Amino acid sequence: MSLMRQTLLWCSENRWMRTHVPRLWFVRRAVKRFMPGESVDDALGEAEVLNGAGIGAILTQLGENLADTADAVAVVAHYQGVIDTIASRALDAVVSVKPTQLGLDHDVETAYRNLAAIVEVAQARRNVVCVDMEQSSYVDATLDVVHRIRDSYHNIGVCLQAYLRRTADDMGPLLERGIGVRLVKGAYAEPADVAFPTKRDVDANYFALAERLLESPASAGHLRPAFATHDPVMVQRIRDTAGARGVGLERYQFQMLYGIQRELQTTLVREGCGVMVLLSYGEAWYPWYLRRLAERPANVWFVAKSMVKG
Ligand SMILES: Cc1cc2nc3c(=O)[nH]c(=O)nc-3n(C[C@H](O)[C@H](O)[C@H](O)COP(=O)(O)OP(=O)(O)OC[C@H]3O[C@@H](n4cnc5c(N)ncnc54)[C@H](O)[C@@H]3O)c2cc1C
Repeated sequence: MSLMRQTLLWCSENRWMRTHVPRLWFVRRAVKRFMPGESVDDALGEAEVLNGAGIGAILTQLGENLADTADAVAVVAHYQGVIDTIASRALDAVVSVKPTQLGLDHDVETAYRNLAAIVEVAQARRNVVCVDMEQSSYVDATLDVVHRIRDSYHNIGVCLQAYLRRTADDMGPLLERGIGVRLVKGAYAEPADVAFPTKRDVDANYFALAERLLESPASAGHLRPAFATHDPVMVQRIRDTAGARGVGLERYQFQMLYGIQRELQTTLVREGCGVMVLLSYGEAWYPWYLRRLAERPANVWFVAKSMVKG
């Protein structure tokens, strides 16, 4: 394990730091750059601002790997409430949930029932639910749950990670069934037999998968192919390819994290592309942010660059 990774993990678990670091003004300011606030109201308020700028919002409550499946009851109720609020305020927004926040660590059946309960409310509100993809050890169970949900509901999408060697095989069945796909490069530390170790190979696979997504019969609205990347070169390649193949701007979308590549987001909206921005909220941000950074130390540079560049 690299020194950087060890240090970040130590910081994420250190009790003194967990209590004190989040209170430091410059840390809060740095985090505010990537999170409008800790409460769901902060995120909903920002969603309204984004909507005003022509950008859709993806809302996600921080937290994963529940200690007890009973804790998932509150998570389900929370997301159902958020979906109700999105409808009552007529926001252009969806929720995105982590399967381990719904009990996947404990039991696939529990995760399935919890996700179905959220998807059902979303269907009644004419909205969709996106499912995040976590470490590679969860991919089989996550796809299994998503496919089972699709047997009963149409309003479901899932994230696929281009760094995984298996993703080319996972994508076909999802597209055939009209399940929305959000394509990312992947954020976790994975062994080389599971994930492409070099950025060059990940980028090449991302583009190959993006081409397949563009060719797929388009799912509509928020379920249309979503290219979740801040990589301006990749964004341009995808736009050029779509243009050359006559794939209209309404048939795909770009997604980015709150606070990153704001200028690119604005430019894409101005040029007629669909853009959605993911807003994280919740009190669990300190360990969450550090663990995310530790899982892929390259992301430290990613965050630092954004702080400097704005
Ligand atoms: C909406 C959304 C949802 C996601 N969901 C998941 C998920 O469910 N599971 C998962 O594993 N991962 C998820 N991710 C994270 C994703 O896997 C990547 O770790 C993350 O997006 C970084 O990869 P990248 O493609 O943006 O760019 P990278 O390959 O890291 O960087 C490529 C280039 O992009 C530009 N760039 C990148 N970051 C910045 C920055 N901070 N400021 C300015 N320019 C920058 C630079 O030009 C850089 O050279 C999600 C990301 C988004 C945006």
